[in-house]
Amino acid sequence: MSKFTVISPTTEKPVKEIELADLAATDLVIAKTEKAFQTWRKVNPGDRARLLRNFASIVDSHIEELAQLEVLNSGHTIGNARWEAGNVRDVLNYYSAAPERLFGKQIPVPNGIDITFKEPLGVIGIIVPWNFPMPIAGWGFGPALAAGNTVVLKPAEITPMTAIRLGELAIEAGIPEGVFNVIPGKGSIVGERFVTNPLVRKIVFTGSTTVGKGIMRGCADQVKRLTLELGGKSANIIFADSDIQKAAANAPGAVFDNAGQDCCARSRLLVQRSVFDKFMSEFEVAVKKFRVEDPALETAEMGPLVSATQLARVKEYLPQGTPIAFQGTKPEGPGYWFAPTVLLPKDANDRAYREEIFGPVVSVLPFEDEADAIRIANDSDYGLSGSIWSRDIGRAIRVSRAVEAGNLSVNSNSSVRYWTPFGGYKQSGLGRELGPDALDAFTEVKNVFFDTQE
Ligand code: NAP
Ligand code: MG
Repeated sequence: MSKFTVISPTTEKPVKEIELADLAATDLVIAKTEKAFQTWRKVNPGDRARLLRNFASIVDSHIEELAQLEVLNSGHTIGNARWEAGNVRDVLNYYSAAPERLFGKQIPVPNGIDITFKEPLGVIGIIVPWNFPMPIAGWGFGPALAAGNTVVLKPAEITPMTAIRLGELAIEAGIPEGVFNVIPGKGSIVGERFVTNPLVRKIVFTGSTTVGKGIMRGCADQVKRLTLELGGKSANIIFADSDIQKAAANAPGAVFDNAGQDCCARSRLLVQRSVFDKFMSEFEVAVKKFRVEDPALETAEMGPLVSATQLARVKEYLPQGTPIAFQGTKPEGPGYWFAPTVLLPKDANDRAYREEIFGPVVSVLPFEDEADAIRIANDSDYGLSGSIWSRDIGRAIRVSRAVEAGNLSVNSNSSVRYWTPFGGYKQSGLGRELGPDALDAFTEVKNVFFDTQE
């Protein structure tokens, strides 16, 4: 077994050594998880519900510990990290209602009765990226377990600490051994094995579009079920008739939250030309006020990037001569800091404008009218998220229907509510997570006809 040393993105100091699973270890855990499926699927719905509620309440009593781990491992602000741990609790609570409500249908047919059942799939392989280690894990394992599946979960190599702790808390909550298993390791070893091992019946992958495409190809071999949450380059569209002050004050958080390491980051800012200068001057004030500091501080609005690699990747997008409009601040000294940065691209072909940077960088373009805004917003291979700022309700409805993205907000930048479906259009993904229908992604529909003729 090899080891990985977790590095604090804030201090650049080693935090912990993590043992990484190899292929043989991964296969052993998958086999154990398949065995546990045979009993977990038969646990009475009420008992399964109670165990998930227990798990939620154990997570609730460890919110602060989990949040501190995420600050240490990932450099998330403490405020965000508490929300993230709370989100795991909420998702578990929400889906704890599902085992007792996993309804099928009784469909009228001639000569008998017909019933559909929602059957669990088996072992679900969840592959988690480093940007939101806790929530993205929970969106997979909450509904997966509720539907009667068992889970193997691979955290990103560099951010395994909260997932490992969640695995321990599941046991503490009484979830039977083998039902929910966290396997730290490399994507190229553990993640790949989830795809190739036939005992894993579905992959839930969140991460880069490139790796997602490879996983999709790999799943084809076994016609393995698959949900993909991939990248984004979402538009924040500011119309002249909006509350400009509010839109400008909120625009930094829409892209710089989590240091821009967010697939929903509104990293393209489209501003109607007639209010462009007014918006930009208010936006500049808001960007310069955005607090980039030690993420453990209660006042922090942004921490460092997750790793030296990610910092280098972001820097590559800003070669000499990049048209920077203005930047926010960042601390001096150790840590993978990058100041919030606002670019004025020459046109829509600029690399920083088109590609997902996954750092605190936003590109601003002007637009003329509604049709122009829709055309520019949709000129992307991605389609995950986005915002529309307007006081004209007809316009807000027209534009939100026309923008090709899975999650839009009007006069708000919020992307994720666990009650509602989340996922992408185009190359941002395949399938939906969260919301009332998430169980469909973790079950097969079985149809049974009973002949009642004598
Ligand atoms: P990534 O390579 O796609 O990693 C995501 C997850 O997939 C990690 O757990 C990774 O494991 C695993 N993985 C990697 N290669 C795999 C393979 N061949 N088979 C199975 N699993 C595999 O993302 P990244 O390299 O961390 O980040 C690169 C870029 O992707 C970012 O800059 C950003 O643009 C984008 N990204 C998007 C999201 C999102 O939420 N949509 C999240 C993260 C990154 P290891 O990390 O352990 O290798
Ligand atoms: Mg990678």
